[in-house]
Amino acid sequence: MAPKNGRLIIQSGNVFDSLKGTIAENKTIVIEGKKIVWVGDDGSFEKEKNDQIIKAAGKTILPGMVESHVHLEATGDPQYEREYMRTKTSMWCFIALNNAQKQLASGFTCVRDCGSSPGWIASLRRILEMGLLAGPRLVVADNGVAQWGNQEAIAPDFMLAYYRQIGEVKAGVVGVKHAVRDRKRAGADFIKTLTTGGVLHGMESKLGTSLFTDEELEGMVEEAHRIGMHVASHAHGLEGIYRAVKAGIDTIEHGSFLDEETADLMKKKGSFLVPTQAALIHLLESGILEQMPPEVQVKTKETSKSQMNSHKIAFERGVQVTVGTDAGTPGNYHGRTGSEVKYMVENVGMTPSQALQAATIVGAKCVHLDDKIGVIEKGKIADIVICNKNPLEDITIIENPKNFSHVIKDGKVMVEKGVITYFSP
Ligand SMILES: [Zn+2]
Repeated sequence: MAPKNGRLIIQSGNVFDSLKGTIAENKTIVIEGKKIVWVGDDGSFEKEKNDQIIKAAGKTILPGMVESHVHLEATGDPQYEREYMRTKTSMWCFIALNNAQKQLASGFTCVRDCGSSPGWIASLRRILEMGLLAGPRLVVADNGVAQWGNQEAIAPDFMLAYYRQIGEVKAGVVGVKHAVRDRKRAGADFIKTLTTGGVLHGMESKLGTSLFTDEELEGMVEEAHRIGMHVASHAHGLEGIYRAVKAGIDTIEHGSFLDEETADLMKKKGSFLVPTQAALIHLLESGILEQMPPEVQVKTKETSKSQMNSHKIAFERGVQVTVGTDAGTPGNYHGRTGSEVKYMVENVGMTPSQALQAATIVGAKCVHLDDKIGVIEKGKIADIVICNKNPLEDITIIENPKNFSHVIKDGKVMVEKGVITYFSP
């Protein structure tokens, strides 16, 4: 259902104003090509001959939502390490496409990939930009700039050699600056780094510490900003969050052990928080955790105890909090980001309107695309979700893609009632 020559019209819907957090009733949206060219009262809309009209009376129209943290090449399979060993490199792009389409079908028209195997994901982004296949707008990090030597590496020798080849970051400011340029060369839009260990990594991977020095972090940020990239840091523990924010890192991923002082610094510096509550919620619910090493079980339980309170502190102190799930981690499948929007209401203390702002305009700012998406107004790209019900009255409707009559990306209807209907003409 792509308009042939004419315009695409969404007629007489109730439009969510993501800047104000309110609904404007009975508005008509006119789309030409990829862009919104007119938004106004239904009464002043002038129909043209070839217009293709979607009647939206009584429906709620949202800007396409932004998912700020996923790993598209990872499926969420609990046996991910085994599956990874059985997957050819050339298959990752197709797995990622499938996951990206799940995100699109669930109303997320922009997805930030926070780390994938090196070299291929910029190609997927370009294919989707060209409109050859249905999929969301991608913002990609390529391979993360990880703390090399965070823990003892345990794997067969050939795997260790491969990891060294693809992931070694040399020490020092020169080393991290080279890694930033290397990611740029691979087509990355932004840099993903880590300033603490991980919950799913081994015992020695501590959540409170980072192997990067302050000079290295500042050098990484300086080089990334200089060449037009923002920097995201995986950071659970307080020290790693604080040092990342102090060094000028733009977005904090997870942010599990935050205090007021650090939240205030984040606000002052304009850093974003991407909570990714889905990762631990699904890990704990799924029964997968029991199959994991004992130290991972301990870290997961401690982190999940602290996490929701930390996110609440951040939001209450005025930090910009956006929506991201870390989809791809064990038990954390793609296409369920609507639940994370609900968690923002249930666990962080947002109103439904604030949670929708987090998923739209705040997300657009977080991924540095707020000049193009995140709000429905003249001149912006037409990324739009049409909801049969009003999520301001019941935020849980966001969880079920069947509640969306249409998902539009780049001015093209790509999904109807949760099913992809777009094919390249
Ligand atoms: Zn992640």
